[in-house]
Amino acid sequence: MVLDDLAEVLERLRETDRSALADSESIVSLQRSLASMEAIVTEATAAFDAAGNFVPDGALTAGAWITAKCRVPRGEARRRLHRGRELRFLPETARAWAAGEITGAHVDVMISLRGPQTEEALARDEAMLVDQARKLTFAHFTRAAAYWRQLADPDGCDQEAERRRARRDVYLVQSFRGSWLGAMNLDPLNGTIVSEELERLEHQLFEADRAEAREILGRDPGPGDHLARTPGQRRADALVEMAIRSKSTPHNARKPAPLFTVLVGWETLHGRICQLENGTVVPPGSLLPWLDRADLERAVFAPGRRIEISPTNRLFTGATRRAIEVRDRECTHPFCEVTAPFCQVDHIQPWALGGPTLQENGRLLCPRHNGRRNERPPPVVAA
Ligand SMILES: [Zn+2]
Repeated sequence: MVLDDLAEVLERLRETDRSALADSESIVSLQRSLASMEAIVTEATAAFDAAGNFVPDGALTAGAWITAKCRVPRGEARRRLHRGRELRFLPETARAWAAGEITGAHVDVMISLRGPQTEEALARDEAMLVDQARKLTFAHFTRAAAYWRQLADPDGCDQEAERRRARRDVYLVQSFRGSWLGAMNLDPLNGTIVSEELERLEHQLFEADRAEAREILGRDPGPGDHLARTPGQRRADALVEMAIRSKSTPHNARKPAPLFTVLVGWETLHGRICQLENGTVVPPGSLLPWLDRADLERAVFAPGRRIEISPTNRLFTGATRRAIEVRDRECTHPFCEVTAPFCQVDHIQPWALGGPTLQENGRLLCPRHNGRRNERPPPVVAA
């Protein structure tokens, strides 16, 4: 009965011109309905599984039944059933999902937090975590969830970090035609060191490609213009460049510190708040192998986190610049997640209008948002 009503509503929607649904409010509303719908399908599927309604057809499992009857890939059928089963232990999560306030991706994060060591704490904190899922961007929510997990199960996190590090592997073999094929698996710390350097070099090559295209076109290249190399080709060239530099560096050369930055919360210096500058949350134990080397930069968030520097400077430099980078960590535009290494430090109140070069008047903006800041104020994100 209720499904007939739904079919009717969907029919009306199908007849609606899509451009009539293309305003920002409709998109948000459609997105919520989609999440809500997915939650209901998942829960109904779990109930179908629990009741054994696949048995009369001779299917051995609910997954096999759904795969055959609904023609969805096996993996997706399994994932849906898994979500549905786990959801029974997460009532707040289920409620928020059914209301369309969070998505399946949030639900997967919540499910990943549940284990024998965390069960009790999760029952206590579930509502708080779901509330974070409602308010934060997805990236920030996963970070908050990672911190919660560290607090709820510190030993488990350390062991998992160790297991992840043990799985490190690089695979590079020559194909029968002579090309080299590879893949790699690196733990968060080592992966950050490699990936940040690769990204830095790729960015330099990108700038070179852009400059070349500008020369040819006589204007800034837009989204439709092709650069000389694809991002993949630039990453490959960057990797080769890393090898060339490594080979041409004397064995005992001094390393340009730091290799990575760790952010540590003041109140938790004896606790566990600990993340890399790129936002990856790491258990403090995983830093131990690095502590006797000068390769890491540690930034401690102290109360009233001030670093003094002369306010008469025109540009944000040195410790003030670093403090802003560490504080903001990404472009401060509400619709942007470009990380600090690719951002510029901008005066909130412009220098020309007397804005001081102090931490409080500085913020990170990526080059594109910094370039646009004078066009119009950034839109405000609804809470
Ligand atoms: Zn930006």
